Amino acid sequence: ELYKDTGTRVFSITKERFESLSRVHELDRLMRNDFAAGRFVMHYQPRVELTTGKIVGAEALMRWDSSKDGMISPGVFIPIAEKNGFIHTLTPHAVRSVARDVGRFCAAFGQDFTVGANLSGICIRSPNIVPIIKECLDEFGAPRGSLEIEITESQLIDQRRFVMDRLEELREAGVATALDDFGTGFSSLHVLTHIPLDYLKLDRSFVSLLSDDPTGKHAAIARSISEMGKACGLQVIAEGMETETEVRALIEKVGCPLGQGFFFARPMPLEDFLALPECLPTASKH
Ligand code: C2E
Ligand code: MG
Ligand code: MG
Ligand code: MG
Repeated sequence: ELYKDTGTRVFSITKERFESLSRVHELDRLMRNDFAAGRFVMHYQPRVELTTGKIVGAEALMRWDSSKDGMISPGVFIPIAEKNGFIHTLTPHAVRSVARDVGRFCAAFGQDFTVGANLSGICIRSPNIVPIIKECLDEFGAPRGSLEIEITESQLIDQRRFVMDRLEELREAGVATALDDFGTGFSSLHVLTHIPLDYLKLDRSFVSLLSDDPTGKHAAIARSISEMGKACGLQVIAEGMETETEVRALIEKVGCPLGQGFFFARPMPLEDFLALPECLPTASKH
């Protein structure tokens, strides 16, 4: 036996440590079994043109339908997968699912439709990530420009040169690139001028502040970020609008062209998405 019930150290491992190790081990096994059982699936959230509500794209968000605890959020399981290495299984799975589904999106919503997939910092630094993505696109004959890869601002901080090379290779392969959660990290603003990017995603924290903004200062900040993105040739996407007030402020005060948020729709399974109308209801004019 590894430990005695009194908590005495045997083999220099405490009871607490042993129990936490077996929990981690159990979680690893649960992840692998559930993955094999097809319990890691992609949901899709519509991305719309704010003024018209027209659906122009989607973001793919992974869900773990755990056999033990029900639905688990990627905010919980992605960090675990990054630690136990399972992220190297989940990422190709996510990219492959998107590459498989993108043709159906394009058939339903038009050839310019783009689907974004999130890439973990560990994966963007892995040397074979670009070949993996290209293989997935080739396997399903996904149209050029239909896939977009999102990385967060914080992922740019480590090994920036290396990450930039990967982003450049992705764009050469016809994959669009996005900087996610913009405004929450600590990158300097001039990164926007020399990182190979197509989209800038304005973090939800800026959008939420638009609900109660009597002096207009929050709209002014969101507007300057959006203008800066546009000046750098990027398409700006606002994240996480939940109310009509926020949508109206984004249109009228911020001048942001695109958005995705619960106001329009929550992430949903592919089949539900494909049944959506061409346009979702947007904010009415004041
Ligand atoms: P993210 O890429 O910034 O995705 C946006 C998150 O905000 C999603 O949470 C989405 O469901 C949520 N959201 C969208 N609209 C609203 C809104 O109006 N209000 C609120 N409160 N939330 C909104 P989710 O799906 O839980 O994903 C969390 C994060 O997990 C993502 O943030 C992304 O960083 C990561 N993630 C998701 N799927 C994957 C994946 O396949 N691979 C990797 N590496 N990371 C993923
Ligand atoms: Mg994202
Ligand atoms: Mg985001
Ligand atoms: Mg986020």
